[in-house]
Order: sequence, then structure tokens, then C-alpha cells
Amino acid sequence: MKNFDLAIVGAGPIGLFAADFAHLHGLNTIIFDSLNEVGGQPNLLYPFKQISDIPVFESITGSDLIKNLHNNIKNKVTIKTNHRVEKIDKNPEGFNIDDSYQVKTIIIATGTGSFKPKKFPLKATETINKRINYYIKDPALFKNQTVGIFGGGDSALDWAIELSKYANIKLIHRRKEFRGLESSVQKLKNLHNVEILTPYLPKSIESNSDQLTINLKEVGGDKILTQNFNQIIVAYGFRADNRLVKKWGIDLIGSHIIVNQEMKTNIDGIYAIGDAIDYPGRVPVIGLGFGEAQIAITAIMRQLFPEKTLTIHSTSI
Ligand SMILES: Cc1cc2nc3c(=O)[nH]c(=O)nc-3n(C[C@H](O)[C@H](O)[C@H](O)COP(=O)(O)OP(=O)(O)OC[C@H]3O[C@@H](n4cnc5c(N)ncnc54)[C@H](O)[C@@H]3O)c2cc1C
Repeated sequence: MKNFDLAIVGAGPIGLFAADFAHLHGLNTIIFDSLNEVGGQPNLLYPFKQISDIPVFESITGSDLIKNLHNNIKNKVTIKTNHRVEKIDKNPEGFNIDDSYQVKTIIIATGTGSFKPKKFPLKATETINKRINYYIKDPALFKNQTVGIFGGGDSALDWAIELSKYANIKLIHRRKEFRGLESSVQKLKNLHNVEILTPYLPKSIESNSDQLTINLKEVGGDKILTQNFNQIIVAYGFRADNRLVKKWGIDLIGSHIIVNQEMKTNIDGIYAIGDAIDYPGRVPVIGLGFGEAQIAITAIMRQLFPEKTLTIHSTSI
């Protein structure tokens, strides 16, 4: 059994910052994420977008923000990716997590829950699946290829704009109107290497040597378009699941965790921060979550070391 002062469940931006702040205060900390990499929403949903409301940075991409937060905790905090926390059992020393970790306190930073991409709706063989992408880490890998992007929201439009710097793009959506920003749609319409195919849905798929052939069926009509792609990107969104939190005995309001002013949940020793929580006036932004992390860690220090006079400022730690 491995022992820690603090376990953080969820390595999105808020969990990562909480881990850094916990380390600064000398807490022996472990952080879990169910995915195979850290970073939560900025890493998965908008890595290339410029974020302009993070304190100190004039603007920073989602991916660079996560790189910085991750670098700050490497070799200081135990990071467990590919580990979805399933079970939390209370005991006299604190909590047991998944029968493998004994911790004194817990911070839940699960955001909107563990993510799973909504799948491409056609049956695919292993060969076909190799050309279907749900996350993009390096757009340069698509250089000089023909890429089909399926979806009509901001993510689909963002991927199309970013990848058009490297590849020929065909953007396929089931409606004539896109859900994402109109300015992005206009930008795409002006790019010579972007073709917008609406209103179409994928009907059948097969693979031939180095490409996929997909038949697209017109929505509300009979037209069939046969298109070839080297790769496709599915941007139909993600399903998030926060049901586990309920199983741990934590009180929710709707799908969000209820906390007090110190970020404590109804269970003594379990705190929650970031998009996982809600209270009157809360807005789901990163800067606010960073502040909640500081409140929670300060409360945890007071809980674990009631005899100590707490050092508040990092300049004095
Ligand atoms: C398109 C878009 C643009 C945005 N733009 C901005 C912006 O400009 N500025 C801004 O401030 N905010 C922005 N946001 C909001 C911001 O991304 C969120 O507020 C922020 O990501 C919340 O961080 P979090 O760490 O609380 O949760 P998340 O980022 O959701 O991370 C939660 C993590 O917990 C993990 N997890 C969940 N359940 C478990 C489990 N049981 N075990 C282990 N791990 C688990 C998940 O895999 C995930 O990695 C934007 C959001 C979107 C979708």
C-alpha cells in the first residue's frame, strides 16, 4: 500500500495547479487521470486555441498552458495517468483509493467527468480505425494529406482552420448551418484548400491501400457523394460522466459537487475544486479554479497540521 498526504482526482488544469501548490506546501501528493495524458479540456478540446484570460499570460495556447503546468510538477508529484479512480473507502487514517493507495485527504478535480469521444457512427475494421482520429496532438503529421473532418461545432471548425495549414480539408456536417463561431465558418470559406460539404452524413466506409473511401448521404435528399480521405477526424464531441462521484457518497447539486467556502464537500477530508463544483456566482473558467485550488490546499494544511502557524505566501515558504 502506498501512502500519501493528498490524492488529487483529475489532472485537468485545476488538478495540475493544485498538485503544484500542494507540493509547494510540502504535501506528499499523488494525482490521477483516467486518460493516458494529463491536461483535461484544454489539452483535449482546444489545444491550439489562444486563451486570453489566464493571469500573467497575454495569451497562451491550451497545449502550452498544460505543458507548463505539467512541467511544474514533474519529479515532484506522483502522476498516475490511465487510472480512473473508481473506489474511495473511508477508514480511520483517511481514505483508501482503489485498494492500492492510502491517503489522508482527497481533492476531486474531475471537471465535467471522465471523457469519452462520441464515436464515428459506422462499423469499422482495425485497418479503418487506424485512419480515424478523435484527438490531434501534432497537426504536422497530416502534412499534404486529404483530411475529412466530421462535425459542426467549434472543435470541428478549429481543427479545420489549424489543419488547413498543412493539409487539404473536407469539412462534413449534417446541417447547412454550423453550431460553431460564424467568423470561423467565414474564414474556412475563404481558404482554397478547404471544401465544405453540407448537409451530409456518412453512410458507408471502406479502406483501400492508403486511403478511406466514404459515401456521404445528403440529409433530406437522395444524393450520394463518394469521397476519399487519407485520414478522418471525428469532432462529434465528448461524453462526460460524473456519476462515480455520487457513488463515493458526495452530495451533488445537479451534476456538480456542493462545497463550502473552504472547498470542503459533505465528507470530512474530501475537497472539490474546478468545473466539478458549483455555487452561486461560479463561472467555469481556469483562473477561478486556480484560486479554489489555493483555498482547498490551505484548508488541508490547517486540517492536517492544526498545531502549525501556516505560511501563506510562497515568498516565505
Ligand atoms: C472550447 C472551450 C474553450 C474554453 N476556453 C476557455 C478560456 O478561454 N478560458 C478559460 O478560463 N476557460 C476556458 N474553458 C473552460 C476550461 O477549459 C475549464 O474551466 C477547465 O478545463 C476546467 O478544468 P478542470 O481541471 O476543473 O476540469 P477538466 O479540464 O475537465 O479536467 C478534468 C480531468 O479529470 C479527469 N477525470 C475525470 N474523472 C476522473 C476519474 N474518476 N479518475 C481520474 N481522472 C478523472 C478527466 O479525464 C480530465 O482530464 C473552455 C472550455 C472549452 C470546452
